[in-house]
Order: sequence, then C-alpha cells, then structure tokens
Amino acid sequence: MRRDGMFAVAKDQLDPLICELAHDGYTVIGPTIRDGAITYDEITSAAMLPRGWTQETDGGHYRLKRRTDDACFGFVVGPHSLKRYLFPSRLKLFSVTRDGQGGFSPDVEPPPAPKYAFVGVRSCDLAAVAVQDMVFNSEMPDPYYRQVREQMFVVAVNCAEPGGTCFCSSMDTGPRCSAGYDLAITELSTSFAMEVGSERGQAMLERVRHEEADANARHLVDLMMSTAAKHNMGRSLDTADLPEILMSNLEHRQWDQAGNRCLACANCTLVCPTCFCNNIYDRTDLSGDHADRYRNWGSCFALEFTYHTGGYIRSSRRARYRQWLTHKLASWHGQFGTSGCVGCGRCITWCPVGIDITVEATAIADDVRESLKRHGSGTKTEEADV
Ligand code: SF4
Ligand code: SF4
Repeated sequence: MRRDGMFAVAKDQLDPLICELAHDGYTVIGPTIRDGAITYDEITSAAMLPRGWTQETDGGHYRLKRRTDDACFGFVVGPHSLKRYLFPSRLKLFSVTRDGQGGFSPDVEPPPAPKYAFVGVRSCDLAAVAVQDMVFNSEMPDPYYRQVREQMFVVAVNCAEPGGTCFCSSMDTGPRCSAGYDLAITELSTSFAMEVGSERGQAMLERVRHEEADANARHLVDLMMSTAAKHNMGRSLDTADLPEILMSNLEHRQWDQAGNRCLACANCTLVCPTCFCNNIYDRTDLSGDHADRYRNWGSCFALEFTYHTGGYIRSSRRARYRQWLTHKLASWHGQFGTSGCVGCGRCITWCPVGIDITVEATAIADDVRESLKRHGSGTKTEEADV
C-alpha cells in the first residue's frame, strides 16, 4: 500500500536501488558524462552518475564544471530527454517481404519496447512526457510509445539549483516534481529525501534502507524548492496573454531579428522534449524483395518539411522560426489545451547562435503591451508572409 509523506534514504542506497531495478528487468537509464555533456545513457551503478559535476549554461553555451561538493544530482538537464527513448530518432515501423506468389507478407508487429527505469528525471521532462502523451498516447496511440510508457519506472529528482537557461517556474512545470514519477528524490547534503508517487514506487522503496523523514528534512525540502522557484531560475517568461499577442503580431519586426540570425539548423527542435514532428520513409533492398518503413525525427526548420502541394509554404527562416515559436507558446494551447513549452531551456542552450525563446517572445510581448498602454491598441498584424 502506498505511503504518503517523505522518507530519508542514505546516499549509499542509490546503488542498491539501481541494482533492484535491474533485477526487475529494467534497463536503467540515467545521467552520465559523454562528449563533454551530461547525457542519458544506460547505467549499471551509482558510480556512473556525474557525481561532483555541474554545468554552466547560457544562450548557445554549455560547459561542464566541477562542483565544490560531490552531489549526485548537482546539475540540470543536458541535451537528451526521455523523448530519446519514448519517441526514438529513428524507428522501424514495419517490413514487407515478397511471398513468392505475387504478393507480400507484411510484418507489422511493433518492435519490442525495452522496459526502462529512468533515474534523475527532472520535473520539466515529466511535464514534457505529459505533453507528448497527447500526441502519441491518445485516441490513436503509437504502439511503441505506449509500450515504453506503460512499462517505464521513473526516479525523479527535484531541482534545487536550476540552470542558467531554465524557466520551468514560469511555465508552471517545476522545479518540484508534482506527478508522473514513481519515486522523487530531493538531494540533501548527506542523504536523499524521497517521496513516493505510485504503488510500484512504494514497493521499490521497501527494498532499500529508509526511515521516515523528520520535520526538519521536510521543511528544508520545501524551503529549497521555493527558493529555487523564486530566486534561482536563469530565465523567466511572462505568459499572461502571450498566445493572443503572438498570434496577433505575426508581422512584428522582432521576427526579422530572429529570422536573420537563425541558421535553420534544427538543433532547437531536436533537443526540445516536446517536439514531435517526424518523417516517414521507405527503404528497399537491392533485390526488391524486401522493404522497410521507418519513422525519423523531422523539424519544422527544414525547408522540405514545409512542402505542401505546389510549393514551400514557409520558404524563409523567419517564417520557420515564427512557426516554431508560435506553435510552442501559442497555437499549441488551441491544439492541446496546454503550452508546448515546458521551460527546460534546451533550445536556448543548444542554439549555435544563442537565439533565446524567452527573449524573442518577451521582446514582442513587451512592445505590444507598452503600445496598448500608450495607445489603447497593439500593433495587430495577422497576415503571415512566407
Ligand atoms: S521550446 Fe525550448 S524551453 Fe521550451 S520545452 Fe522546447 S526546448 Fe525546452
Ligand atoms: S533557432 Fe537556433 S537552434 Fe533553432 S534552427 Fe535557428 S539557429 Fe538552429
């Protein structure tokens, strides 16, 4: 039976927890250092975590840095998110083979989905999974996504030290995990404060040494979370009336500013944990007897992605950047009833020219709000050019 409350777990219990998850058949995925960044990968022990490391992030800037302590989770999100596992960048959807009688025999079984346990997941990424659920796990579910989703176990981590490009508190998605986890950790100096989010989480907690957390620990966690939310966010975004402002100002001069700098490299969409655009393509072997259908990540920044019958509907980078930003912060609300941005900051960090979604949206919103104050009307320009 699930027990509410908070539990104190010694840091040396992280290794047994990872072993217990592996024992239950999970492939354990956690943060680890690769190629100068903290990325998700398979881990088999707590020693593989980037213990004692943190990062410095800003627009177009990411550097690993040593911490002055040996915190297990003293960093925030790297370029990877759970999207890498739930919605892989390349997935075979089905195959067909000639049956020798003039027909084809299809193999439409979805590929077997691994049973993942994710360790170290942040609240923004849990919110991103909830957003992707609306695309891949609703009335027409993607069978692979659904399998991974139903089987996965999540050990989340509350962010006490948000990064330089984080703005989850503006998007109401963090820094404290509120749903979507089995266990949630807040790292204190000598122990973890652990909260239970599901029956499975409760059963797993019972398999490691723990005790009830005292009132001091509970108070400390509350204080750390409110301080992180109020004072430590690297970025912020005023989302009040933002969808209306953006959609009513599609010819604002700020779109030129961003469009002139944007390289259309698509980095922002690749690192974004909610972006879901994809391309489908077929590949046949040389004999012509066998064909596979694949799905890979697409991007609204690619010119070919904007091709509709007869031509490209967003031929300029300005139009593609505007499409992306307005989808994230405005039209997503109409489509899904929520923002498409969870404030993880990845698109800011990994944009090679440092284009910042919070700066671009704020420049337009502030200008329009100021104009409304002065003249009682904004600069409404709904027509969108390409
Ligand atoms: S738009 Fe940027 S900040 Fe928002 S969820 Fe995507 S990557 Fe994160
Ligand atoms: S906004 Fe930045 S990351 Fe996104 S396509 Fe343009 S240059 Fe690349």
